[in-house]
Amino acid sequence: MYYRDTWVEVDLDRIQQNVSRIKQHSGFDHLYAVVKANAYGHGDINVARAALDAGADMLSVAFLDEALHLRRAIKDVPILVMGAIRPEDLAVAAAANIDVTAHDLHWIESILAYDGVPANLHLKIDTGMNRIGLKDADSVHKACQLIDTNPKLNRVGLFTHFATADAQTRAGYDAQMQQLDALTAQVDLADFRYVHLSNSAALLRFGRQSVANTGRLGISMYGLPPSHEFELPFELKQAFSLHSRITQIKEIDAGSAVSYGATYVAGEKVRLGTLPIGYADGWLRYHQGRQVEINGVQYPIVGRICMDQCMVQIDDRVQIGDQVDLINDNLTVEDAARDLDTIGYEIVCSISDRVPRIYK
Ligand code: PLP
Repeated sequence: MYYRDTWVEVDLDRIQQNVSRIKQHSGFDHLYAVVKANAYGHGDINVARAALDAGADMLSVAFLDEALHLRRAIKDVPILVMGAIRPEDLAVAAAANIDVTAHDLHWIESILAYDGVPANLHLKIDTGMNRIGLKDADSVHKACQLIDTNPKLNRVGLFTHFATADAQTRAGYDAQMQQLDALTAQVDLADFRYVHLSNSAALLRFGRQSVANTGRLGISMYGLPPSHEFELPFELKQAFSLHSRITQIKEIDAGSAVSYGATYVAGEKVRLGTLPIGYADGWLRYHQGRQVEINGVQYPIVGRICMDQCMVQIDDRVQIGDQVDLINDNLTVEDAARDLDTIGYEIVCSISDRVPRIYK
């Protein structure tokens, strides 16, 4: 039960259509649904269940807390933490049957005395992103040797992450694939149950790599393009929309200003509608001046966006209680990203937990 008239609607059917289409296109037998950051703002548990029903068979997140939250609701599928966890938290992860990332020799050395329930590790290879991961062939080889000294540690996976799979040319992707060959030359990839390299862009563009048997599907599962630098092989369906309702209507005279800082001054008599959404909901001040849609007509946001509310210039067709669409199929996540000079990822992740997620 919610007591506010602002909500995100998530279309799980669309997520399922995206997952099954991309899985088929990728040719992989296995697929991670990336549901970190509360499933990119869409709601982790509902999205995870939908993605698993549509053909994903594993889940991945950035942090152990996110994995534990999922594990409480979803028992049987592999969950991977792709970021670095603290060595002392390995026992917590293993007890919840959560796979973790072995990203660094120091980290591996610090877990060598581990003696809890068997822990599953995925070796992270840094082939060019320069974020986390082992960066030279000797370290990769040594990491495997060290892990193999402890029977409580299982090397179940090996992965890397592409920095430019969504760029116009594939040169960066090819260079990282070459680097992967070089860095794994001294190990046998067949020793790993899961080898996963691709993010959305690589899954959509390059299909299955011969050395890999799974990929990690993030942004495109939500129906959003990784970038506009390459053409999508098929249409993705945006699952996210953002709505509110008019709580008050007032008329102001020419010369009257609206909101903090009086940045908007009416040039004539103007009808205003107030919405209960503001920057604390992730509806950032940068959205000032952008359009919203009410009964199929677009109207501008005027004046500064406040922490909890904002105002729209309307006409007499709009009534108190009317639904206002801030993001929908006409005012898309990608439109907002372009207008704010950012990426779709940031728009959906920014909508805060204060906004209820409703599923259809
Ligand atoms: N793999 C890793 C390690 C990531 O950090 C991410 C997201 O940033 C993904 C996969 C999914 O990427 P995308 O959302 O572009 O599909």
